[in-house]
Amino acid sequence: MTAVVSEAIDEVRGVLDRAGDSIVVGGRPGPAAGGDLIETFDPATGDAIASIAAGTAEDVDRAVAAATRALGPWQELSPAARGRFLYDIASLIEENAQELATLETLDNGKPLTESMYLDVSIAAEVFRYYAGWCTKLSGQTVPISPPVGNFFTYTLREPLGVVGLIVPWNFPLLIASWKLAPALAAGNSVVLKPSEMTSLTALRLAELANEAGLPAGVVNLVTGFGQTAGQALIEHPGVAKISFTGSTATGQKIVAASAPSLKKLTLELGGKSANIVFPDADLAGAAQGALAAIFLNQGQVCCAGSRLFVHRSVHDEFVGELASAAGAIQLGHGLVDGTEMGPLISGAQRERVEGYLASGTDEGATLVCGGVRPNGELTPGNFLTPAVFTDVRDDMRIAREEIFGPVLTVLAFDDEDEVVRRANDSEFGLAAGLWTSDVKRSHRVAHRLQAGTVWVNQYNMLDPAAPFGGYKASGYGRDLGEESLIGFTQTKSVWVGLD
Ligand code: NDP
Repeated sequence: MTAVVSEAIDEVRGVLDRAGDSIVVGGRPGPAAGGDLIETFDPATGDAIASIAAGTAEDVDRAVAAATRALGPWQELSPAARGRFLYDIASLIEENAQELATLETLDNGKPLTESMYLDVSIAAEVFRYYAGWCTKLSGQTVPISPPVGNFFTYTLREPLGVVGLIVPWNFPLLIASWKLAPALAAGNSVVLKPSEMTSLTALRLAELANEAGLPAGVVNLVTGFGQTAGQALIEHPGVAKISFTGSTATGQKIVAASAPSLKKLTLELGGKSANIVFPDADLAGAAQGALAAIFLNQGQVCCAGSRLFVHRSVHDEFVGELASAAGAIQLGHGLVDGTEMGPLISGAQRERVEGYLASGTDEGATLVCGGVRPNGELTPGNFLTPAVFTDVRDDMRIAREEIFGPVLTVLAFDDEDEVVRRANDSEFGLAAGLWTSDVKRSHRVAHRLQAGTVWVNQYNMLDPAAPFGGYKASGYGRDLGEESLIGFTQTKSVWVGLD
């Protein structure tokens, strides 16, 4: 382990040492009911860095009970008072930014600059955005036309109650914040279940919510495995809604498991997003954008631009540039200066990605660069060099399935209608990108693409105000924006007889 990593571990030692008490119920941290622990690893070194509590159904039960008790005190607060708590959480995230970013990089592997300027800083902005919404969430007066009588009819936007938030390992703090902030702004109490591979920033977030002075039990945390803690949360009759981000397969399981209690669901699932380069684009900018679109976070991004469609007239030149830029990406420990790409989250995830690399070659695609485990000091980590495939057909597995790793598949196209049809020929519809200098084409194609987000001449831009979520098998409901807030409410119509 290098000096920089051991120094960073020392800086966050306090959090690592208390990770075994990561079941936060009613404001109090403690161990899991069964006392079991799960080791969490630095994916860049393979070293265990902490052990978190392996929550059980009993822990979920206690958390839901605490959250239910907290609903009264939370909802009795004025909207402005609730908003002040959210502003305070935003400030606390910023005050603890260095610690949160270090924890995220140690636990997930992403470069520290990404943890700092993407995950942590947007998490704070998300809380600030929804803090402002607390005083603006309102119903409507309804202009009704009754056959008899006079009525004054209006709607109320009410919270759902206790909501369960299940978040993945690729953006642990950020996605937790995407869900926690609107759930709280709308007046709900929550039970948060992070991935067992990356629970450290969720623990810190729950601590910061308590430090901000939220009534005990408004924010509860149950760490542990999906099949135990997650499943118990989904099946719990006291939980009104599950907001989930993760794989499409797990999303399908959640739909089935939540059916008996008819829970409301927001599902942000997998993707196989098309990124289209037209020949009239600024090609240098598009190449940079295409690389960032796929290789951010080691390709472990639900909206990754993993299917790159390049116009045949510029294809060879473009691929040449891509491959040399991909080959120059600096792999390393996320805490080391100059690292541009970290390791994959786990050995299992790397093997899964390698399975796709093998299938691409078997099915006749050409691996132009990358896809190998680097040697030397990176050997113990889950590193994989950024890979680019050409000669890809639409029916290949690498062009259809979510790989969730640093693998770009490049497909050639000839005209606009054709590329729109092929881009839309996917079970997924999370995001898409297009690169062109023709303003008419940009809007025309954006309107035709079946995706929840379309980026033009850029990729991966996010803002708390812009809704994010998928078409088709990429899920339903939206994170971020007003839509996420509305998704954490239910509408009541009130009829007042005036005669
Ligand atoms: P999952 O979708 O299985 O995990 C996401 C979250 O769901 C985690 O908190 C997980 O907990 C939890 N979970 C898992 N099973 C259940 C269940 N039965 N009930 C309730 N909660 C559950 O992703 P994986 O980590 O298994 O990754 C597998 C693949 O999923 C990746 O290779 C990638 O393709 C895809 N993926 C997609 C994401 C996206 O944003 N689109 C995000 C993450 C993964 P725990 O981890 O503790 O088991």
